This record gives sequence, C-alpha cells and structure tokens, in this order.
Amino acid sequence: MSEQLSRLIRNEVKSFKPYSPGLGIDEIKKKYGLSRVIKMASNENPLGVSPLVQETISSSSGLAFRYPGANNPELCLAVARHLGLDPACIVCGNGSDELIDLLIRMLSVPGRDNIVAFNPCFSIYRLQARLSGVEFRQAELNPDFSFAFKELLNLVDDKTRVVFLTNPDNPSGYAAPASELHRFASKLPQGCCLVVDEAYIDFADPLDHYSMLSFFRPDSNLVVLRTFSKMYALAGLRLGYAILPVTLADYMRRIRLPFSVNILAEKAGQAALKDSEFTRQSLAVITRGREFLSSELKNLGCKVYSSQANFIMFYPPVNAGHIFQELLKRGIIIRPLDSYGFAHLLRVSIGTAEENEIFIKYMQEVMG
Ligand SMILES: *Cc1c(COP(=O)(O)O)cnc(C)c1O
Repeated sequence: MSEQLSRLIRNEVKSFKPYSPGLGIDEIKKKYGLSRVIKMASNENPLGVSPLVQETISSSSGLAFRYPGANNPELCLAVARHLGLDPACIVCGNGSDELIDLLIRMLSVPGRDNIVAFNPCFSIYRLQARLSGVEFRQAELNPDFSFAFKELLNLVDDKTRVVFLTNPDNPSGYAAPASELHRFASKLPQGCCLVVDEAYIDFADPLDHYSMLSFFRPDSNLVVLRTFSKMYALAGLRLGYAILPVTLADYMRRIRLPFSVNILAEKAGQAALKDSEFTRQSLAVITRGREFLSSELKNLGCKVYSSQANFIMFYPPVNAGHIFQELLKRGIIIRPLDSYGFAHLLRVSIGTAEENEIFIKYMQEVMG
C-alpha cells in the first residue's frame, strides 16, 4: 500500500529530503547534560525580541480569533513609509521564504524556463525551483567568495526568468557594492528579473553603498527581498517583504494565500519598525562583535573572511569538524559548512559581547 501511495508523489517531490535546520538548544542540553547552551548557528539577533515588540504581541494576543487584513495593508503601508516607497510596491510574506517561492512560481514556466544563482547559495532558491519543476543553474563564486558576474551572466539565456543574488552573501558575509549589482542588472535580457535578497543588509556598513534600494524603480526588472528574521529579531514569527515593480506586486498579491502573514506578525512587524532604539543597539552589538571576533579568530590562526553581515565565515588551522564537535560538547552551537560543500570552513553568528567571549575562550581551549 505505501509503495502504491508513494507512486502518487510527483517526481520533483520524491527528490526532497527533510529540511535540516541545524541543531536545537534543548537537544544539545540533553545530549551533553548542559545547563547553558549558546546558539551561534542561525544568524538570529542575540538581543532577543525587542521589549516594545513583546509588549505589542502580548497586548494583541486577544485579536488572534480574527483573520488578518487580506494582504496586510497596514503593515505594507508601515514598511513603505519606513523605506520612503509607494505601498503599491510592497508585498509581505510568511518569511522571505514564501516570497522566494511565489516569485519562482509567478515568473517561470516549469519545463521551459530557468533560474540562475551562484553556488553556493541560499538553499531555498534551489529547493523551490526544484519543487516547481523549473531548471536551476548555478555559477561558481570566485575562490575568495566574491561574485563572478561574468560566469553568472554566461548562464543567462532568453528562458531565464530570475537571477537570485544574496547581498551580503550567506555563508561568506561578502557584499558587493550596489553599483556593481546595478551594472549586472543592466546587462540582463528583458523578461529576466534580478532578485537581490537583502536579508543581512541592515548590518552592512555603510548601508547605502550596498543596498539596491536607491536603484529601485517601480517599472524596472529589480526585486529586493528583506526579512524581519535577522536585525528585527522575529525569525520565529515568520515575516518578510518584497519590494517589486508595481505590476509584479499586483500579481503577487493575487496569488499569495491571503492570510499567510498572521495577525500577530502583522502587529509585531509594525512595532519593530518603530523601535529604532532596538535596531540601533543591535547594530552596535553586531558591529563591535564582528570586529572582536574577526581579530580574535585571526589571532588563533584562522583565515577570516571579511563580513558585512551578522556572522563570520572562517577557515581554522585545525580540522573544522573537530572544532564544531568540541564546541558542541561545551555548549556552543556554530554552523559547519559541509552541507554547502566546504568541510574545511565554519560559520559563527555574532552573539552578545559575553557570548562572543565564551566562544573565543572555548576556541582557544579546543585549538590547544
Ligand atoms: C535568513 C535568510 C533569509 C530569511 O528568511 P526568512 O524566511 O525571512 O526567515 C533569507 N535569505 C537568506 C539568504 C537568509 O540567510
């Protein structure tokens, strides 16, 4: 029977393995009998949820019996005001993951069109393209993890509907100046959109040098994705938004499930945009932590990749898998990059000053 049932499954779906989000805090506490575990693996904001947002979520909890406004008009308006853009260009989603999925399904015809990105890239681009039955092409990044624009452009043809770029990039932290991305966008054929995923843009310094927003026009082929999961510390609530040309935004609103952004996320997002004190503090913690961790890791003999994000990728002089396991035993979770094809590299999310110091202390211990 189960064999018969699995015959019902589309081939694209059969190729899927369960998504592995990395290790959880409780899991590691239990496994190693630890009372405290520090997670520096998923690029979450180490300050936790802002007090203003927590208050908003609590005081809005009684609204949970209501449906949210279809397509979250108030939230879109708040985002648009925050960015100084027309709300007609904003679509909110259940994390940027949902928006990535919708873009692929909205723009590309299965079995005919293709999508282009770098290798490595954020896994969701590849997974959702595969689920849709759309060809996914990847160009290798340069060896130093900077963007190989020429190789990327070589993969683009008249059937390419979307080019995905992450800037600052994950897992390297590399960011290209917006002017370079703009030059690349101008070389794309008509009918191909450049989607720039700016999940980490709030940590780039200076932001205006890297963000594509100043190049955004309501009628061009540029789409920018942003999320509340990183700087705004709402990864568990699931909220992101896309900035799109008006025509694309209009169609995306039609195909999006009308209530995919829930009513608490809607309220929390608006409060998060208001709490500029929290984002200012977060940025200070990340900027200082990035400098501290970079210099300490270099002192330990690691090759450190320069980062414009809230994490650092590094190449330790000792086996990376060994370091990862030994840190885990001591209650520090970081991210091995073997699933990206880089068994020799590690990625650490920037923590609070205290967490960063504990991490470095254990790194010293583990590396002898
Ligand atoms: C974390 C991350 C996101 C955010 O995804 P959400 O669905 O909004 O949580 C998007 N893109 C990249 C490259 C990321 O690393």
